[in-house]
Amino acid sequence: MTVTGLRPDADSAAVRCDNLVHVYGTPGSEVAALRGVDLTVRQGEMVALLGPSGAGKTTLLWHLAGLLRPTAGTVEINGRRLTELGGSALARLRLEEVGLLLQNPARNLLPYQSAAGNLLFAQAPARRSGAAKRKRASHLLDTVGLARVAHQRAGRLSGGEQQRLALAIALANEPRLLLADEPTTQLDPESAAAVIELIRSANASEGTTVVAVTHDPAVASALGRTITIRDGRVGAEGRAGQEYVVVGRDGALQLPPELFDLLPPGSLAHAVRHDQGVLLRRVNTDAADEDRQ
Ligand code: ADP
Ligand code: MG
Repeated sequence: MTVTGLRPDADSAAVRCDNLVHVYGTPGSEVAALRGVDLTVRQGEMVALLGPSGAGKTTLLWHLAGLLRPTAGTVEINGRRLTELGGSALARLRLEEVGLLLQNPARNLLPYQSAAGNLLFAQAPARRSGAAKRKRASHLLDTVGLARVAHQRAGRLSGGEQQRLALAIALANEPRLLLADEPTTQLDPESAAAVIELIRSANASEGTTVVAVTHDPAVASALGRTITIRDGRVGAEGRAGQEYVVVGRDGALQLPPELFDLLPPGSLAHAVRHDQGVLLRRVNTDAADEDRQ
């Protein structure tokens, strides 16, 4: 699906953040949640966002969904810079191209509607017949193992059932981009596997780009590429199980915390050219001062 009146570019990245900064709060009590995030996700890629609690993962996901305005920097989704879109163009983009699963599953649902009713409501903007919408609703309910509770009120479902329904809702309109915040936290391993399978099959059959915040190693390994956010920045990236530090635009890099015993934050190091890269050699500052005397 495309947003009319705009120019979605099929060759553009699904997600591009350029020096994205987000500061919450009012002058005097600010929290810098994102401190210059650079991130590109190609069309059809699947990415897991990892990192400790408070690192800025949810804030980043909300920016990708166009729910927050950057304090500085830019966010582009499917080739369009979000800050350049008017309110209605942004709303259409979110409705037609982005599927969003918020961290609190209940916030994704209409609690007084049935599970099936929620899926029909989610498809309201889709250009499909009523019969096609009902068919898609029951297919999605089947896939996430909720066919049995199709006619129960969403608000009465268990946390895990609500989470699975929320994912089905996020995928109802075959979004080009699926954003999911901790999609498996409330699930037993079997339900988590069903959720992972649904995400992977959307990716395989429709080319859906996926960005999911997760603490679940099963989700991270199913998605393949991992981005670790620490202290509001991209700290590390993992591909095929291998972990790498990311050299930022100004040459800055975050050392993995497990190396802090060798190079504690605040210590000095010699950066030395090495045939395979750069070697960081710790400097004993006391000895260096003595040498100078
Ligand atoms: P994560 O999802 O990685 O746990 P968040 O994006 O939720 O991290 O939060 C990042 C930082 O921003 C934290 O320090 C958090 O306390 C702060 N924060 C999040 N939401 C708000 C808000 N609405 N107002 C003020 N500070 C917030
Ligand atoms: Mg969060």
